[in-house]
Amino acid sequence: MTIKSRVRTVPHYPKQGIMFRDITTVLKDPVGLRATIDELVRRYKDVKIDKIAGIESRGFIIGTPLAYALGVGFVPIRKKGKLPAETIGHDYALEYGTDRIEIHTDAISKGEKVLLVDDLIATGGTAEAAVILIEKMGGKIVECCFMIDLPDIGGRARLEKRGHKVFALCEFE
Ligand code: AMP
Repeated sequence: MTIKSRVRTVPHYPKQGIMFRDITTVLKDPVGLRATIDELVRRYKDVKIDKIAGIESRGFIIGTPLAYALGVGFVPIRKKGKLPAETIGHDYALEYGTDRIEIHTDAISKGEKVLLVDDLIATGGTAEAAVILIEKMGGKIVECCFMIDLPDIGGRARLEKRGHKVFALCEFE
């Protein structure tokens, strides 16, 4: 069984018309969890990476074991007001209104090579905001890595247009 076949689709969650791609069914399965992390370790084990930055909250679940396996550090990118020390933030547009993500100002040093990790890319708005934050701190984005890409929504193209490499373990239409 593949990683994709273990993803559960929940129609109309959190609202009408959204096909929610639920990774908890991959994570609860020891074979699915191991296959996910192992495939990413194979991809990045010979790549020069200083830090993994994970986007709240499912990016933490994938990013932390990957960082551990690669022997690099992990830094969280969180929603507004969650990080305790000094932060910088970036506001980005949602379908309705705006949101803000933040990172500690000491999380990434100038010139560090950073792998960005999240569970899923849809519009790419969240990942783009994270990339902007990391670059503001002087970090260099090695690649943006996701379990799931929804290519029809255009997030991958949005990041590639900015010159970033994008990798996903699987895609859903
Ligand atoms: P976006 O900024 O549009 O690329 O949205 C990405 C964020 O929203 C990720 O952190 C995902 O966890 C979540 N997300 C967006 N669309 C979905 C979906 N169809 N299924 C599950 N999570 C989603």
